[in-house]
Amino acid sequence: MSSVPKKATEGLEPLLNKYDVYGPRYTSYPTALQFNEAFTEEDYIKQAQASNQHLVPKPLSLYIHIPFCKSLCYYCGCNKIVTHKSEAADSYLDYLFQETQLQGQHFADDRLVQQIHFGGGTPTYLAASQLREIMEVIAQNFHLGLPDTLELGIEIDPRSVTLESLTDLLNMGFNRISIGVQDFDPDVQQAINRIQSYESIKDIMDTARAKNVNSISLDIIYGLPKQTRKSFDDTLDQVIALRPDRIALYNYAHMPQRIPSQRLIHTSDLPGADEKMRIFLDSIDRLTAAGYVYIGMDHFALPDDSLATSLSDGGLQRNFQGYSTHAECDVIGLGVSAISRINESYSQNIGVLSGYKGMVDHGNLPIQKGLNLSADDTVRAGLIQELMCSGLVIFSDFNERHDVFFHHYFKPELVKLGDLADDGLLEVTEISIKVTPKGRLFLRNIAMTFDAYFTQTDLQNTEEPRYSKTI
Ligand code: SF4
Repeated sequence: MSSVPKKATEGLEPLLNKYDVYGPRYTSYPTALQFNEAFTEEDYIKQAQASNQHLVPKPLSLYIHIPFCKSLCYYCGCNKIVTHKSEAADSYLDYLFQETQLQGQHFADDRLVQQIHFGGGTPTYLAASQLREIMEVIAQNFHLGLPDTLELGIEIDPRSVTLESLTDLLNMGFNRISIGVQDFDPDVQQAINRIQSYESIKDIMDTARAKNVNSISLDIIYGLPKQTRKSFDDTLDQVIALRPDRIALYNYAHMPQRIPSQRLIHTSDLPGADEKMRIFLDSIDRLTAAGYVYIGMDHFALPDDSLATSLSDGGLQRNFQGYSTHAECDVIGLGVSAISRINESYSQNIGVLSGYKGMVDHGNLPIQKGLNLSADDTVRAGLIQELMCSGLVIFSDFNERHDVFFHHYFKPELVKLGDLADDGLLEVTEISIKVTPKGRLFLRNIAMTFDAYFTQTDLQNTEEPRYSKTI
């Protein structure tokens, strides 16, 4: 999929009304709402053992969750603990090290770690010396890929680093950083309680580039309070001037019933669905005109960045971090609330810190819930990945990969696609399903057609929705 041409944005109003419903983001399929406590540590170990049996050893990707933050951003739905107590992090690291050791025992020696990502919370809440210690413990318990093949990434909160601490961190070998920008407008920053300057972000990028960091990503969010088309256009001017390698343009999901801090945001300050969609469409136009490749639902990358090249080599995946490369890896999530994807399973660590510590204290992996994927889950997950990543499903290829006959397997869904095709969101032929440029704006709605867990109740329950709005 490339950019959305201008004409795709014409005549959208009726579609905005029709498709603005509550639905999953499909960072996984089945979604996290299907994870359940029947999945145990024993299930996890069996999946790891089965994965170790692959003839070609599957590489590993590690996600490390650092839950601490120094202040609360009102929009944030992450699992985090707002505190200034540095001893909280010291104690957490002791448990993280034990968990790393427990996990390492279950993966064969030929499983090389190709990707390590520190997320949060705020990973840069930790000092460089603490991050270095984590890397040492990982190296003691896993086999790391060679330095020039290992992707080492970290999310940076600009308010939590000095140029000195950043330099210490970069000296450890981080080659990918993502910086939380969200919006440069002062009124928006005030409304979300996240004040940071353009200069601070430019300084971080300049320092990283001087250290040969080869991929810098900026996170921005549309749909925030006080945002307008004009104000976001100004933010885009500044983002484009900084020329990051990647841009993640997230859709703010306002769910104050589920996320208490969002109650601090005045609903009247939020842009309406139409204005919000216009902001999104303007952003696509601006970023593609500036030379970025539009990836999946909401990511952009310079043409030579690996996220853009992975589109053609099949390495692109949609996961809990949005879009990423290294689709071939098993993912081990370490830390409170972290999610793993091992072989044919998903699992999630307990989200409460005291519970996490208790389980690790007893020598257990701190898994609270998860899911063994059924054969049907795997087929549908593969299809949803193809729709969300490339927007193209070629039936013969799909049949070969999943050992099914598409027209038979998805007979009822193919009938339902008729409505989406009539609205110009996709083209269904004898040989393929292809998402149109207009359809890219409604990828979640298209994927919902193939979701065996999504029910009419989800569509109709607007009082206590389980998902965010698709637009
Ligand atoms: S957005 Fe980041 S820094 Fe802000 S509260 Fe959430 S996790 Fe913490």
